[in-house]
Amino acid sequence: MPPSNKPAANTPINVKLLLIGNSSVGKSSLLLRFSDEQWLPEDESSATIGVDFRVHKMEVKGKKVKLSIWDTAGQERFRTITSSYYRGAQGIILVYDVANRESFEALPRWFSELETYVSSSVVKIIVGNKLDKEFSRQVTSAEGQQFASRMNSLFLEASAKTSVGVKEAFQEVVEKIMDTPELWAPLAVEKSSSGGGKRNATTAATSRDGMPGNIDLNASRSEEESGGCAC
Ligand code: GDP
Repeated sequence: MPPSNKPAANTPINVKLLLIGNSSVGKSSLLLRFSDEQWLPEDESSATIGVDFRVHKMEVKGKKVKLSIWDTAGQERFRTITSSYYRGAQGIILVYDVANRESFEALPRWFSELETYVSSSVVKIIVGNKLDKEFSRQVTSAEGQQFASRMNSLFLEASAKTSVGVKEAFQEVVEKIMDTPELWAPLAVEKSSSGGGKRNATTAATSRDGMPGNIDLNASRSEEESGGCAC
């Protein structure tokens, strides 16, 4: 019998998500809150926490999903986010701080970087973090929402500190990815459409072992070193 490209029903779908946005907006904190249900005590003096990546399993729309969620680990401070960081991503979480207008105004720059590195079908969500700092808010919800609609992006406000909106942000982005099979089942889509033909940017980025997101960002960092699990 010829080998089948169809994954077994219980094989999880690999999904790669990236966190981007200005330094100190709370990217690492959102990741820790979501994956480890952890909140590190605030110390504004020690700005960026820096996490490499986490693996998180969840079930969405009846499908098992194995998420690998990547944090810039502070690369953005040096304006050196490498193209390899973006390779194979199916979802992008763009974070700003609702109490820091500059971080919101930086979003168009992050979007133009995305235009360069990822296919337009990649799912995007804008997350206005630090919702708990309502008293010093500098960006209204309406502004965030309007900008997101303009950029064809999902939108949500959240707080890594109180955990409000955090699960929802990840859930929404994965749900939309599941609604876009070309992002995670490119072989099936190709077959059903043209019987071959052009592969999109995301498809081309899918690695040999079918793990989109098998990227070589600092290849020296092993999963154990970075706190990810080899599950
Ligand atoms: P990153 O540079 O974007 O990864 O940001 P970090 O996760 O390292 O967070 C930067 C600072 O913001 C740290 O002092 C965090 O404790 C703080 N922080 C992160 N998320 C929140 C939040 O939701 N609310 C508040 N009040 N502070 C936050």
